[in-house]
Amino acid sequence: MQWHAMPAAAVVEELGSDASTGLSSQEASRRLREHGPNRLRTAGTRGPWRVLASQFASTVVIILIAAAVVSGLLGEAVEAVAIGALVVLNAALGFVQEYRAEQALEKLRRLSGPSATVRRDGRLRTVSSEEVVRGDVVVIEAGQLMAGDGRLLESANLRVQEAALTGESEPVEKSASVVLEGETTLPDRRNMVHTGTVASYGRGEAVVTATGMDTELGHVAKLLERTESEATPLQQRLDQLGRQLAVVALGLVGVLFALGWWRGEPVRLLFLTSISVAVAAVPEGLPAAVTVALALGAQRMLARRALVRRLAAVETLGSVSVICSDKTGTLTQNRMRVVAASTADREYDPREEAESDGALGLLLLAAAACNDSERGSDGEWKGDPTETAFMEAASERVRDFERVLRLLPRIDEVPFSSETRRMTTIHRRDGWPHGVPEPDGDSDLPVAFVKGAVDVLLEESTRVRTGGRDEPMTGEMRERLRARHDAMAGQGMRVLGVAARVVPVTAGAGDSFEANLTWLGMAGLIDPSRPEVREAIAVCGEAGIRPVMITGDHPITATAIAAEIGIPHERALTGREVEAMEGEELASAVGEVYVYARVSPEHKLRIVESLQRGGRIVAMTGDGVNDAPALKRSSIGVAMGQGGTDVAREASDMVLLDNNFATIVAAVKEGRVIYANLRKFVEFLITCNTGELWVMLAGPVIGMPLALLPLQILWMNFVTDGPPALALGVDPPEPGVMKQPPRSAGESILGRGLGWRAVSNGALLAATTLGPAYFWWRWGWESWQTLLLTSLTLAQQAIAIALRSEREPLWRLGVFSNPWLIAAVTGAVALQLMVVYVPAMQAVFGTVALTGRELALSFGIGLLGLVGVEMRKRLGW
Ligand code: ADP
Ligand code: MG
Repeated sequence: MQWHAMPAAAVVEELGSDASTGLSSQEASRRLREHGPNRLRTAGTRGPWRVLASQFASTVVIILIAAAVVSGLLGEAVEAVAIGALVVLNAALGFVQEYRAEQALEKLRRLSGPSATVRRDGRLRTVSSEEVVRGDVVVIEAGQLMAGDGRLLESANLRVQEAALTGESEPVEKSASVVLEGETTLPDRRNMVHTGTVASYGRGEAVVTATGMDTELGHVAKLLERTESEATPLQQRLDQLGRQLAVVALGLVGVLFALGWWRGEPVRLLFLTSISVAVAAVPEGLPAAVTVALALGAQRMLARRALVRRLAAVETLGSVSVICSDKTGTLTQNRMRVVAASTADREYDPREEAESDGALGLLLLAAAACNDSERGSDGEWKGDPTETAFMEAASERVRDFERVLRLLPRIDEVPFSSETRRMTTIHRRDGWPHGVPEPDGDSDLPVAFVKGAVDVLLEESTRVRTGGRDEPMTGEMRERLRARHDAMAGQGMRVLGVAARVVPVTAGAGDSFEANLTWLGMAGLIDPSRPEVREAIAVCGEAGIRPVMITGDHPITATAIAAEIGIPHERALTGREVEAMEGEELASAVGEVYVYARVSPEHKLRIVESLQRGGRIVAMTGDGVNDAPALKRSSIGVAMGQGGTDVAREASDMVLLDNNFATIVAAVKEGRVIYANLRKFVEFLITCNTGELWVMLAGPVIGMPLALLPLQILWMNFVTDGPPALALGVDPPEPGVMKQPPRSAGESILGRGLGWRAVSNGALLAATTLGPAYFWWRWGWESWQTLLLTSLTLAQQAIAIALRSEREPLWRLGVFSNPWLIAAVTGAVALQLMVVYVPAMQAVFGTVALTGRELALSFGIGLLGLVGVEMRKRLGW
């Protein structure tokens, strides 16, 4: 079908739809069942098999499998089977974790998909883009990602960015009214919109002609195969750390081999021992474990209404030092209400006013006509809260209000933008409501209504409505109106001016009819702050995070709200001032200012950049089309889940499902907890691995035989690297996570002494366990090796508990406050007891049963490491 070559009405008919009511919801669900969801085929996430396969793809596992095969060939059946079993157990453990992580990520991906506004049963409804079907009438607004290919039915200054499809980066002007030649090529189809493109300006409506793989984008979707998700900076660094540790470990294993050779150990034993030690020493699972920790962290953030779109954001969140937040809707509820109005002659409280006052009637009628909200299916007004507030006020004050609006059909408009801070509509006058005075001038001509920021509108107003007539605006009148504005704004109101003019037929298109206005009056809107924001701001203060308010509102309004929610407000900068400042000056200003007013999106970019130049990690919220560059530029771009644009969401790292500032702070806290847990986890792994290495290396040096057998080492590695390490990754928050300053940006995960502590803890572990074992061996105790194995295993478990905090003593954390860790440790101890006492296990692992006294002894020794770590915390080493 060549939809672009047909008149709009014909397209609608062909598709069995209706331009004004859309499809019925039954018909829509029937079509959805028939054609399937509106989705491009993508490479998808890793299925269970691929996750499982990846468990066997690591070098260490391959070495182990090779070792099992070699042992088998050498006739060591027990060894071969035991190694095989360990590999399988390891893989099972890894699989369960990674698959859970994978599912968590898939859920995040699904949730971050776009939605669309469609007409169904004659009402506007918001549905997930996947539910859009052929024949749906979709509403297009600036910032929206097109949910399907469609033929435009209506358009008002609509411009669409089609780069994703055509490569053309300039937005294309669209028009519903044209009918094109059949052979018009895709980039020139001005009456069509397409999946994957974005409305950058204006608005419109379209009937959907194709969905899913049938769309133009679907035809080229092969080019869009999802790119593999990139490793986060932390994963990359840990990867690198892992490789460095592996090199060191291999060198030491070489030394171990040489020592043994020189002492005449059997080569077979030496070979297996070296492999086991290498396997134990290399923290192979680290990057995967980090992914798991980040993914599960993202899942926990989701439970707190923060949807993470990029895994790297989870770790960056923990280091955020500035949160730049939009005021409207994020710090406040975005539930606007008109609570005050004023004309040149008097002030009103519109909630109490009798409807007979004509001047107020004209003011509200103009604001309701210059307005894009519509009644939704539940009878509530839908749209920008500033505008719905006017609708509500007008419907209470203007008789037959909706009928009256139909007398004034809109024939042209200039949409609202945060740059111009005003909106203009032009109306034909098919009639005029009784009781509302008509603007002066020829009543056959169309009338323009303008609403917007008071400062902007006052500048364009050359006349003022007073005493029922249009009078020239005087300087003194302007001053009076300004003063009234300041008084209203000082109470935290957003104040909008409303103006009108009769449009001479000769006026050209564009902005010319937005000058020479007649001032009708202004209205004050209250948008209550969110109740939980005060508390969140206070938390920021303690956590060394600077909360910054950014708004398009007037500085007086901004300051009043900042005062109410506890943001320092001694100084407020306006967007224009930001623009005027040069590098140095701006850098020092952004270091002091907490409130920015009359800001347009491009100022946001400047603010982020100069904050970042000062070494700060900046989270920045945004919801509009033009916010995308600032969101991309900030370390954490935060978009809105409710009402924000798709463009902003696509550019963001995180979406606030509840649009709430407090949610950002909760996410930052979660990020800090996750980072702290990763550090515990890394410290624990390095401590254990180096401990094992020292034991194996020191033994021969002090004249002992190889301290542990190959299978014993692999066993120990399994019970430590596995469950306890994972349990540390989900450790509950330490008290005071939000009472410290954020970590510095470039800090290494081994920073703040962690690397040194881990290596020396390892030495401590080795000394406390190998020391006693040396004497048992000297004294000829037959059980010395089992004693060493048991005490070393127990010591590692005990240390896991102690390492739950870098500073806080264990008694303050509570020994049992991480149930996962307690379960892991208990499990490991139970398994260790089996290895010592079950005869079959004794045969495999070369252990002997310990007497009660010996067991008690190894428990006692096992606690030494813990005591040592606690003492270090106490002494601050
Ligand atoms: P914020 O970022 O705080 O939401 P905006 O950029 O949306 O600020 O709004 C800036 C100013 O533009 C407001 O103070 C108001 O004067 C004006 N304004 C806001 N919304 C509208 C609208 N729908 N129509 C006309 N003017 C508006
Ligand atoms: Mg706004």
